[in-house]
Amino acid sequence: MTERHDVTTLRLAIVGAGPAGIYAADILLKTERRFDVSIDVFDHLPAPYGLVRYGVAPDHPRIKGIVTALREVLDSDTIRLFGNVRFGVDITLDDLRQHYNAVIFATGAVRNANLAIPGIELEGSFGAADFVSWFDGHPDYPRTWPLDARSVAVIGNGNVALDVARMLTKPADDLRSTEIPANVYDGLANSAVTDVHVFGRRGPAQVKFTPLELRELGEVRDVDVVLHAEDFQTDSPSRTAAETNKQVVVINKILSSWRDRPIGSASRRLHLHFYAKPVEVVGVDGKVSAIRWERTVADDAGGVRGTGEIRELAVQAVYRAVGYFGSPLPDVPFDDQRGIIWNDEGRVIEPAIEFGGSPRPLAGLYTTGWIKRGPVGLIGHTKSDAMETIRHLINDQATWWNPPAPAEDSVVALLHERGIEFTTLAGWSQLDEYEIAKGAAEGRKRIKVVSREEMVEISRRPE
Ligand SMILES: Cc1cc2nc3c(=O)[nH]c(=O)nc-3n(C[C@H](O)[C@H](O)[C@H](O)COP(=O)(O)OP(=O)(O)OC[C@H]3O[C@@H](n4cnc5c(N)ncnc54)[C@H](O)[C@@H]3O)c2cc1C
Repeated sequence: MTERHDVTTLRLAIVGAGPAGIYAADILLKTERRFDVSIDVFDHLPAPYGLVRYGVAPDHPRIKGIVTALREVLDSDTIRLFGNVRFGVDITLDDLRQHYNAVIFATGAVRNANLAIPGIELEGSFGAADFVSWFDGHPDYPRTWPLDARSVAVIGNGNVALDVARMLTKPADDLRSTEIPANVYDGLANSAVTDVHVFGRRGPAQVKFTPLELRELGEVRDVDVVLHAEDFQTDSPSRTAAETNKQVVVINKILSSWRDRPIGSASRRLHLHFYAKPVEVVGVDGKVSAIRWERTVADDAGGVRGTGEIRELAVQAVYRAVGYFGSPLPDVPFDDQRGIIWNDEGRVIEPAIEFGGSPRPLAGLYTTGWIKRGPVGLIGHTKSDAMETIRHLINDQATWWNPPAPAEDSVVALLHERGIEFTTLAGWSQLDEYEIAKGAAEGRKRIKVVSREEMVEISRRPE
């Protein structure tokens, strides 16, 4: 290992322009250190902000507003953005070693976690991540979405399940003021859905919803929330949780207030089923026709166990919102079980640890955000991830790479040489302004451009 004491400027590559990657840049710039910094952020999408743009629901403008703070970071003179550049295809780990002292992978998680129950592959059974990508206008997803089901099951008791349920039931006109693309408005406006059933295998005291998001569900216009008395016969673990955990107390209050509300007049219904563990998606002619679940009861360990009682409900579509999962990156050690990059506090390690060896950090490689820790937690949590990773990056100065071509121009030359139509921060400003102007013309805040070609074309127009 070559000892390095002569680096006066850290040339850092960050792969992923989501919150984790941008916060890592921000924290590095604000940390006291004995060297200058020059950061290049790569993203395979033509626009920055990751799941803030392509995951957070369009009717959550306050959360989407985080992009203002992220933009301020990107505006730093020491950061360049290279959009439309895919790590592993357009640029490789070997390339990065030629141009940088180190790299941080912040590639997030966009795949659906598996749910291994019979029938999950039937037509009409969807992963929540794909539906989210559709309604948030992700360029790599189809422009149309089948919304011909009248009754729909949503499997999961986390905030993504709530987003899916809310987007399916909310009147499309109430989304008109948001940034949803025109094709999404049209799709939702023509949806046949009348009933959405959300299934959670545990009780109301064990849900992973956060109170704010749950409360919002009860405020959707023209939708009745339907609860079942049998789910609220409080067992002792739930009672303890309800009495001791502040979040559970609030959730209980919200659910109780809904139980007292008169229902029956709305055009759509949102049914919450607790102690209901989906065990099979039933199909006819290869298409979803029903969902089967097992009734559960609380056990003594704070979980649930099956009762053997199976119930069935006719539905024409099933959405599984049981979590996200990271994707492997070429030449970067990946833990297939957890869907994360092998790492020890953000230092990428060889998976020798798997076999009982001690973790061996791979010099120059770091990771942060969902691909480091797994797809749980809010945007704010990626800040503490980044702090840990940056602390190691700074302390590891002696083991940084010694790149033969560190000049800032050399990577630009490489991308040009390969004919990669990369986008820049200035290009993103053009696209951003274009979307805002398009929205303003219709009295809306923004209308997203969906096609990748169009995004790139607008971003690369001569100023
Ligand atoms: C449906 C949904 C709703 C959510 N709602 C909220 C909410 O309301 N409030 C909240 O606080 N949090 C919310 N979250 C969580 C929040 O989105 C995450 O905490 C956060 O986005 C994780 O940040 P990240 O940077 O690790 O990953 P991401 O945001 O996924 O960013 C990763 C980036 O890496 C890029 N990338 C991936 N692979 C490559 C590659 N090979 N080459 C180049 N670039 C690549 C991606 O394009 C992306 O831009 C939500 C998440 C989901 C899924």
